[in-house]
Amino acid sequence: MPRKPFIAGNWKMHNTIEQTKTLAAAVKAAANPNNAEVMIAPVFTALSAAAQALKGSDIILSAQDCFFEEKGAFTSQISAGQVKDAGCTHVILGHSERRALFGDSDEIINKKIKAAVKQGLKVVFCIGETLAEREENRTMTVLTRQIEAGLDGLSKEDLKDLIVAYEPVWAIGTGKTATPAMAQETHCQIRALLSAKFTAPFAGAVRILYGGSVKADNVDALMAQADIDGVLVGGQSLEAQNFARIIGYQK
Ligand code: PEP
Repeated sequence: MPRKPFIAGNWKMHNTIEQTKTLAAAVKAAANPNNAEVMIAPVFTALSAAAQALKGSDIILSAQDCFFEEKGAFTSQISAGQVKDAGCTHVILGHSERRALFGDSDEIINKKIKAAVKQGLKVVFCIGETLAEREENRTMTVLTRQIEAGLDGLSKEDLKDLIVAYEPVWAIGTGKTATPAMAQETHCQIRALLSAKFTAPFAGAVRILYGGSVKADNVDALMAQADIDGVLVGGQSLEAQNFARIIGYQK
């Protein structure tokens, strides 16, 4: 079965509630010629308003993170259940900014994935190597560790809706993109890892997104690769026209 394309915008710590509503409405109005699943991940405080703005559309609403505990004395944290309550069906976990800036280890990410799955949230699981790791030829070692530890203790049934986002850290927000061939090779290797850990049919069905400086003028070549099933977009998803062009990529 062909994998349905998946185009996601991570809005990070940008936009007020009003700005989020405006941008969400623009995404809702964008043409979707590839019949892709389209997802936006606004800031926590704007999730409910975004859910309202998206009503009547198929646009998916995601949070950018969630905590692994269900409730309690965890000042500032937001649980998977609360994310769902705000209107989300998806959550991004393991983003490299969470890993690098906020101490999200593979073990913490694993707990978060378990909490999200327990709540019935679909997970966009981010993995990726740093520049130093790539230069030391450790890309596959790092990706293997992230997958093994991040998905530890989860069955293929738990992960039936899993989406993996391969985001080389050196390409995020830097303007440097992996070449389509480089991204395709790594995606293929990630699929092989998932096949070995779960099964070939499981790996064949998982969407693997590429992320890292995706923009209007490189999305077509990336989406033309056999194992690139979609993109996770940061900066360029904040501008309605650019994101609309990415949604309408041409193969
Ligand atoms: C991201 O943060 O997931 C990302 C890919 O950002 P950018 O597109 O800005 O590189």
